[in-house]
Amino acid sequence: MGCKQRKSKTFTVSSMSKLFNCQQNIANNSAKKVFHLIWHQAAPYRVQCFGWMAQLGKIKTGDFLLRIGILHRQHHALCKFCGETIESIDHSLLICTPVWNVWCEILDWWGIQWVMPHSFSDLINLWLSYKQKPKVKVIWDCIPFAVLWSLWKMRNEHLFQNKALNWEEGVDLIKLRIAFWVKSKGDHY
Ligand SMILES: [Zn+2]
Repeated sequence: MGCKQRKSKTFTVSSMSKLFNCQQNIANNSAKKVFHLIWHQAAPYRVQCFGWMAQLGKIKTGDFLLRIGILHRQHHALCKFCGETIESIDHSLLICTPVWNVWCEILDWWGIQWVMPHSFSDLINLWLSYKQKPKVKVIWDCIPFAVLWSLWKMRNEHLFQNKALNWEEGVDLIKLRIAFWVKSKGDHY
């Protein structure tokens, strides 16, 4: 369906309806691309599920646990990496300073410099905006999920097993996971 509006000074019901349908089409296309990126990349199924839950804002971060009444004190819900602000998907998996440094190292690996997206959905949309050749795309598409999954594992190991945060090791593990996932996908297809 085309998205052109008639050159009329008055908006008719028909033109408003076309505009609405046009916006709906754009939203639907965008949603389809996000869905495809999450569910059709090389990461294992449990990681795809994690990506989907992150997209829905349902990862059990501090802000989520406060919201549903599991946590009652704000200081229990602070970011497990910096301890300076309430933990959220956007902060603790993207914006928090050491976390952002991890993203920058992974992007440096690809020779890319970018402006920090401020939300998980901005990150995914930015990721989709980079066009890659098919052989490279299989690697590219699983990178954000390898980073998110690895950060979440680091956070949990730090919180529940008292493991020290080692960001260099974290970056190495992300790269290893990407290589392993892509190789496994190659074995399956
Ligand atoms: Zn933080």
